[in-house]
Amino acid sequence: AKKNEREPVAVFSPQLSERQIWRSEMLGALRDSLENERFHLVYQIQQDALGLAVTGVEALLRWDAPDPQLQCGPQDFIPFLEQSGLIVEVGGWVMTESACQAAEWGRETGEAITVSVNVSSVQLHARCFAERVARALEVSGLPPERLELELTETALVHDPEQAATMLDAVRELGVKLALDDFGTGYSSLSYLKRFSFDRLKIDQGFVRDILGDRNDLEIVRAIIAMGNALSLEIIAEGVETADQRDLLDALGCHSFQGYLIGRPTVAEAIRPLLGVRLL
Ligand code: C2E
Ligand code: CA
Ligand code: CA
Ligand code: CA
Repeated sequence: AKKNEREPVAVFSPQLSERQIWRSEMLGALRDSLENERFHLVYQIQQDALGLAVTGVEALLRWDAPDPQLQCGPQDFIPFLEQSGLIVEVGGWVMTESACQAAEWGRETGEAITVSVNVSSVQLHARCFAERVARALEVSGLPPERLELELTETALVHDPEQAATMLDAVRELGVKLALDDFGTGYSSLSYLKRFSFDRLKIDQGFVRDILGDRNDLEIVRAIIAMGNALSLEIIAEGVETADQRDLLDALGCHSFQGYLIGRPTVAEAIRPLLGVRLL
């Protein structure tokens, strides 16, 4: 009889409860971090194929976790921000902070740097999205065409109808739109037709093995040809070697981003790179 009484307890495996504890700790820590400003941005430069100069930067979010055991990268903490809705607030901060930084660089160096910001599906579908973009522009004074919003297909697939409405609204503000991780989804082509993007970002998955894998090479060649036909700017991400860059350049890619050009780094380390030719 005693044994039977204990049985229900066994349905909670220790692993599951550990995971639940970790999840609630993560959520609590992220919530606190928003109030205590435990987020910061790093920036990764983008190099233009023609002039070899820095024409833009991508803002990437970092979390200074209050507990070192919870410390992790955006791939791991952003899903928590999304599930809890905190991404709306944090993402709004990312837009304003990075727009202010780009405007400051513009004033200091005279360089018209574009800043690219990642936008998650949850943010895009929040009612206040366009207002938050407008506020970032207003607070920073950054010319709208120097703010680029990076969207992935995942952000559009959930409710394309509403996504289109939201994107039309921000487009009216004059900001640029890029389709991130291009080629990884299965319906990218229909999205190109449906939404008017300014730029395609070739996913790093195709760039990685572009010299060794014939299929990757042909896919990239096709993406660039199609992008050119549709008058889209093309940027490749994940460029790690000079050989990759030279091949992408020969294929007609307009700009590059990746460890070869520069690792994501704090704003102070970006400034000296602006206005100089990088080889
Ligand atoms: P993503 O938008 O595709 O960003 C590119 C990721 O590739 C970044 O990782 C960057 O550090 C990394 N990377 C850049 N160059 C290279 C390279 O040459 N080789 C390799 N192997 N990796 C490279 P990170 O910073 O860890 O960000 C991961 C993802 O987290 C981003 O992927 C983006 O989806 C998301 N993310 C980052 N910041 C934000 C944000 O502010 N808001 C939202 N919603 N998502 C963000
Ligand atoms: Ca991105
Ligand atoms: Ca990407
Ligand atoms: Ca990615």
